Amino acid sequence: MNQKTKYWHVDNTVDDWLAYPQAQQAVKEAAELLQRNELVAFPTETVYGLGGNGLVDKTVEKIYIAKGRPSDNPLILHIAEEEQLEQLAEEVPPLARALMEAFWPGPLTLVLPKKAGVAQRASAGLDTIAVRMPDHPLALALIRAAGLPIAAPSANLSGRPSPTTGRHVQEDLEGRIAGILDGGPTGIGVESTVVDVTGEVPLILRPGGITAEQIADITGEVAVDPGLTVEGAAPRSPGMKYRHYAPEGEMWLVTGANVEAMAEMIRRHADEARREGKKVGILATRESASFYNKNDIVLACGERASLISVAQHLYDVLRRFDEEKVDLIFAETFLENGVGAAVMNRLNKAAGGKRL
Ligand code: AMP
Ligand code: MG
Repeated sequence: MNQKTKYWHVDNTVDDWLAYPQAQQAVKEAAELLQRNELVAFPTETVYGLGGNGLVDKTVEKIYIAKGRPSDNPLILHIAEEEQLEQLAEEVPPLARALMEAFWPGPLTLVLPKKAGVAQRASAGLDTIAVRMPDHPLALALIRAAGLPIAAPSANLSGRPSPTTGRHVQEDLEGRIAGILDGGPTGIGVESTVVDVTGEVPLILRPGGITAEQIADITGEVAVDPGLTVEGAAPRSPGMKYRHYAPEGEMWLVTGANVEAMAEMIRRHADEARREGKKVGILATRESASFYNKNDIVLACGERASLISVAQHLYDVLRRFDEEKVDLIFAETFLENGVGAAVMNRLNKAAGGKRL
């Protein structure tokens, strides 16, 4: 594929993004491309999305091809107004309404009964459809201007970490898509929480930016798909069975009672690997980076005291280990409360479940 990829850079140092003619022009051009069934990457509050007209199967097919994504893995449709749901969902159960009220726009994807005949390719032939309203001014303006539900998986090549900057998107998709709308680094850094609301109790299919605790506050009850945690159980969400991201280097998660214990274990393994001539990467945090040997590639992934900052930096750090071509990665682990559940879910997948 060798398409010319248009690049718009929209400054994100002001509150009112769309006050600038340059931003308005970028959104207008990007929306026109979407209406012409071309693919455009755009920022959301979670990660960058690779957008295409969700109603046209041929366009959605192009998304799968550009990413190299397995075709049985359905996409999320992004909307800017609740009314757009009428086109897509057969019904919106009260449970879904309550969650929309509380968290939209925001990092919560709802799996709803699908209206027959629409978005066949986006839903990968399932009779449910995943929908969310992103909380990012550029994303909302773009979807509104296009006037379409936009299918948008993360804008990375399948198997690479999700992109959290315009440069990440460029690295993976330059030449493969029509445009990249760069609005600076994304805020949350891990994908949305996917919740099935077709039953009595909301069922988390993928942990993400909205936590189980936040959902339970609204609905009283919440369940987590056993396929996410129980060995051998099949995940309900087609995407969760894939490895998601496998670093070039072999990755190990290191557990311990506290950060000092983890660091001691990591130092021991890193010393041994270095003696064998291996290039070692260490996923540390601001608090712990100084505990490690300077000869290793030590990257601080935010601050342990703020799981939100760990989530924000996670994918950038994983990409940097690949750039450094490390042979081995030892990663500190985090508490699974709040957004820590999403962080640990992604780290576990990247490590293929390997722990020390
Ligand atoms: P991504 O687009 O890369 O953020 O991934 C979307 C996630 O939502 C994947 O894990 C999909 O398998 C999941 N998903 C999308 N549609 C459905 C659906 N109808 N039922 C269950 N999971 C879904
Ligand atoms: Mg993805």
